[in-house]
Amino acid sequence: MPDALAPHFHPEYRPTFSVVIPALNEAEGIVGFHQRLVDAMAPLGTWEAIYIDDGSDDTTRETVEFLRLDDSRIALISLSRNFGKEIATTAGLDHARGEAVIVIDADLQDPPEVIPELVAAWRSGFDMVCARRRTRQGETVLKKLTAHVFYRLMRNTGRVKLPRDTGDFRLMSRRVVEAVCKLREQHRFMKGLFAWVGFPTTTVLYDRAPREAGHTKWNYWKLWNLALEGITSFTVMPLKIATYLGLIVALLSVGYGAQVVVKTLLFGNSVAGYPSLMTVMLFLGGIQLMTLGVIGEYLGRIFNETKQRPLYLVERFLPARVRVAAGE
Ligand code: UDP
Ligand code: MG
Repeated sequence: MPDALAPHFHPEYRPTFSVVIPALNEAEGIVGFHQRLVDAMAPLGTWEAIYIDDGSDDTTRETVEFLRLDDSRIALISLSRNFGKEIATTAGLDHARGEAVIVIDADLQDPPEVIPELVAAWRSGFDMVCARRRTRQGETVLKKLTAHVFYRLMRNTGRVKLPRDTGDFRLMSRRVVEAVCKLREQHRFMKGLFAWVGFPTTTVLYDRAPREAGHTKWNYWKLWNLALEGITSFTVMPLKIATYLGLIVALLSVGYGAQVVVKTLLFGNSVAGYPSLMTVMLFLGGIQLMTLGVIGEYLGRIFNETKQRPLYLVERFLPARVRVAAGE
């Protein structure tokens, strides 16, 4: 070791905080993000920033490598391709060494200035501190509305209570991170997994800012699929609904059958009823296909889980380099 202040990587070293930042095509904004992160983290203690390059096809990776030349607290995990935000976050959590871990978006929609508040709540004894959106700026009415409906639906159907209006922006204590890392399912709905582990939880309010640069990676199809993921990973309610729907239709048909019999006995049978026959047939056909679809959603997920593939592949991992003698 040439000099005690030279940057080193120490496997045993544990910073107080790890900041996990999944990034896909964020080259435009990431320098500005890192600067604001540094300013916010400076007074808080030792820390590392773990950037996960989720298969970007712009210069996100080079930009982080460049930042890392000057800032030894930066670690970079390059995934072998795009695995999606949920898995990128998991990769970050797997590599995080801090006593507390903060998950934050790279697009400055989650302002780093909120982190000291999260830390204060953690220091006062909470294991999980969620940042809850007081307002959402720069998002369409439809997105706000769909998010609202989804969170209400999830709260009312599943056993796991998702905190309201809370994204992935949060702080977790070491024991929570370890618990989350034990959940290795392929279909990862992180907000649900975070809620599933439990532990003392609190929320801090903040105003969600519009994106600083770049574009959102979400569209309504992706959001719909994320919602399906959330529902199917945490509740079997749709299967139950299918059962009861079948039951109700069966009961109704018994009633209708009785009516037909009585009517035939009283007034004879004039063969009519082509329109009603068609309606009933199409209605039942529709319900059957729909319930098959619901079963299929669950079956497909079972299929994916049974393959037991690794969640992600790391193409390259550049760890944070820690100065031995200096405090950070
Ligand atoms: N992201 C990622 N992989 C993806 C999609 C998104 O790592 O496949 C990152 C993205 O770079 C950002 C965060 O996840 O840091 C949130 O993404 P985005 O801003 O597109 O989502 P929104 O804020 O609109 O929900
Ligand atoms: Mg965003």
